[in-house]
Amino acid sequence: MILPIIAYGSNVLKVKASPVDIEDRNLNKLIADMWETMYNANGVGLAAPQIGESIRLFLIDATPFVNDEGLSKKEVEVLKNFKRVFINPKIINENGKEWNFTEGCLSIPNIREDVSRKEEITIHFLDEQYKEQTLTLNGLAARVVQHEYDHIEGILFTDKLSPLKKRLLKGKLNNNSKGNIKPDYKMLFSAKKKRK
Ligand SMILES: [Zn+2]
Repeated sequence: MILPIIAYGSNVLKVKASPVDIEDRNLNKLIADMWETMYNANGVGLAAPQIGESIRLFLIDATPFVNDEGLSKKEVEVLKNFKRVFINPKIINENGKEWNFTEGCLSIPNIREDVSRKEEITIHFLDEQYKEQTLTLNGLAARVVQHEYDHIEGILFTDKLSPLKKRLLKGKLNNNSKGNIKPDYKMLFSAKKKRK
């Protein structure tokens, strides 16, 4: 089932999410719905708060990145198989130089901006079989995870921009929260709802 994606401006995107209850019988269905919702919106990642569930769960399919230019062979090898579910993840280490890359977000479809992030992370999580996993990731794979991990911490990529940039984007962000945009997938706009 395709779920509406929560737009920038909604509180669920700003709060730290709670641990996933792995006894929850609806979890498999939720994960299936999240995949469907993400693919429908042509996303490479989706976090549970973006569909209104404030729990520590996100999923990533970074395989579309293999067509990007300038990737090393090693990176392509990692990205071409990078389809994963992260349950109750914890980033246990972040290393390396900060580097810039233009990010977008399914909750903020009218904005794409350069975001600076560290090069390497190590993350501990449960996969969809509730098996413990620890991964060390670099470059784009690390970045996508960092972006999604931020979502369950209540952080959006626009929060990481400079104060000047944020000021410049204020109008666009307001349009996004009010629903004055035309995304090509279903979204929920909190500001719009309140006004009616
Ligand atoms: Zn996002």
